[in-house]
Amino acid sequence: MKSIDQASLSGKKVLVRVDYNVPQNEQLQVTSTTRIKRTVETVNKITNEGGIAILMSHLGRPKGEVNDTFSLKHIVSAVSETLGKPVVFLGDVLDSDIEEKINRLHSGEVALLENLRFHKEEEKGDPEFAKAIAKLGDIYVNDAFGTAHREHASTATIAKFFPGNAYAGYLLYSEVQSLKKVLEEKKSPFTAIIGGAKVSTKINILKNLMEKVDNLIVGGGMSYTFLSALGFTHGDSLFEEDMVPVAQEILEQANIKGINIYLPVDNLCADKFAEDSNTLLTEDPNVPNNWLGMDIGVKTIELFKKVILDSKTILWNGPVGVFEMDKFAVGTKAVAEAIAESTKNGAYSLIGGGDSIAALGKFGLSKEVSYISTGGGAMLEYLEGIELPGIKALEEN
Ligand code: AMP
Repeated sequence: MKSIDQASLSGKKVLVRVDYNVPQNEQLQVTSTTRIKRTVETVNKITNEGGIAILMSHLGRPKGEVNDTFSLKHIVSAVSETLGKPVVFLGDVLDSDIEEKINRLHSGEVALLENLRFHKEEEKGDPEFAKAIAKLGDIYVNDAFGTAHREHASTATIAKFFPGNAYAGYLLYSEVQSLKKVLEEKKSPFTAIIGGAKVSTKINILKNLMEKVDNLIVGGGMSYTFLSALGFTHGDSLFEEDMVPVAQEILEQANIKGINIYLPVDNLCADKFAEDSNTLLTEDPNVPNNWLGMDIGVKTIELFKKVILDSKTILWNGPVGVFEMDKFAVGTKAVAEAIAESTKNGAYSLIGGGDSIAALGKFGLSKEVSYISTGGGAMLEYLEGIELPGIKALEEN
């Protein structure tokens, strides 16, 4: 995969697939510019080198039909403010005068095309549609890691119309490099901390990680299914009966492969799922009847901390407790702090998933880790070992 650093941009019309699927309020004003901010470096690179940046994205789910609510014209001012430059709104890729409009653009200018998902061909990955988009540029850059797991016209199919001339933007490139650093070029010991609510949503990640990690820490709601597979009681905690065999299989695999699995050795429990509940710290992994496991206990914190501090590569996805309630955020905070300390000592740490990122933010530790992946679904699929079509298209180019 080539990075935009390898492209010759001067005087070129550069088609950039970005992920500007931004949140909006009822007046359609953009309420968070994070996704736009993450593309600034790529857009600046193009304009500073005298290229023309033609940005294209999807927004929401217009289902292949023109729908004003989902028009990218509503985000032009937010894009312009965030990039710090004027942005020309070009209209639809298939408009009859689109090439004329593009030909009027000058070196260093930035323009934005209409929502690509106004055409059903986009999500179908239609080659004719991809070809029509491709006609508008000399070079293709993909900086939309968040949609790299989709085989759409603008994220995957289009690359083949730019033989030798399709590049990864800085955001996509850094996301892929950081994931590769963890999964493929890792330094041992490699520890994955997987938490969150359910085993069922993380089975494929857990299975893929079994091929890679030295240590697997399991916390959060999903840990009670694992503890139950080992014969401990789970009380009223989150529990997935049908996942017990999966948990058993993972525990067996770990045994065969020599992977250390760390589960809670004590639990902070509540008598109801609320901040104003009564609490109970258990002596061992068992959760008594009528109690819910809400967070890891003090002995578990010490155990998890030690493993994290001894690691050279760390992957964290999913909180180890109900961190949204301060009372049950202690374990997740301790995990985040241990990752930060380990990073300071030279470990490489990658954090992904909305809740882990929110937890890091809540504890003021966002800058203390090596990389935060905002890839969402694309990142999860990568962790599951699935080849992402958007990445494959660039790699094959
Ligand atoms: P996920 O989206 O699967 O990563 O799950 C994140 C959610 O798991 C967060 O909202 C946490 O509050 C929740 N969670 C973590 N630990 C527990 C637990 N012990 N009981 C119930 N929910 C939990």
